[in-house]
Amino acid sequence: MPRRKPSRGKCAYCGKEIAKSAVSKHLSACPDRRATIEKAEEKKGASEMLFHLRVQDAWRGEFWLDLEMRGSATLKALDDYLRAIWLECCDHLSQFSIGAWRGAEISKKRRVDEVFKEGIELTHIYDFGTSSETLIKAVGMRKGKLAGARPIALMARNLMPEAQCIECDQPAARLCMECLIEEEVWGVLRSKHAKTHPHSDYGDPIPLVNSPRLGMCGYEGPAEPPY
Ligand SMILES: [Zn+2]
Ligand SMILES: [Zn+2]
Ligand SMILES: [Zn+2]
Ligand SMILES: [Zn+2]
Repeated sequence: MPRRKPSRGKCAYCGKEIAKSAVSKHLSACPDRRATIEKAEEKKGASEMLFHLRVQDAWRGEFWLDLEMRGSATLKALDDYLRAIWLECCDHLSQFSIGAWRGAEISKKRRVDEVFKEGIELTHIYDFGTSSETLIKAVGMRKGKLAGARPIALMARNLMPEAQCIECDQPAARLCMECLIEEEVWGVLRSKHAKTHPHSDYGDPIPLVNSPRLGMCGYEGPAEPPY
């Protein structure tokens, strides 16, 4: 597995690198975010409750997203977003529940402002075979307008975790699925060494992407936000 270091990410408004633990503090002070908010406030229409959601992989906390979501949007919109940015491989079933995995299921038709209060944490499961488990916590809320018509705004996201080539310790760009499946080794490789790596039963090593699902089921990315 990749070496553990304090996780860092990037503010989507100003592009600055920030520590995972300092995201809320940065977002409340970020001048570029403030300008975006002020511009959104000039739009016509009513304000609504907006929820700051901290999203992270349940097992690998170096994968995280800070989202702002409309209270009037449903959990379906959040499910769609998580699938697009992190999870979708073969259209598996997914579910939200309150508390742990086996907690009470919450319908995707529910509105965000019915479900989240500050401090409430939901678990999202994608795929009941090779499961991806994501925790979503409401860490703040404000009354206002969201820039754009979409239900979610990406505010910050982790940088791709560093990985060192298993053959030379240089930064790796690819993952060998044969190493992972047959030898249970996180077989990450520099591009040069991916070409000469002896394994081929599972095809060429796949590019590393910024998702906690990489290497699970058929997931290969692209791990890009849908909007
Ligand atoms: Zn910023
Ligand atoms: Zn799959
Ligand atoms: Zn190498
Ligand atoms: Zn291999």
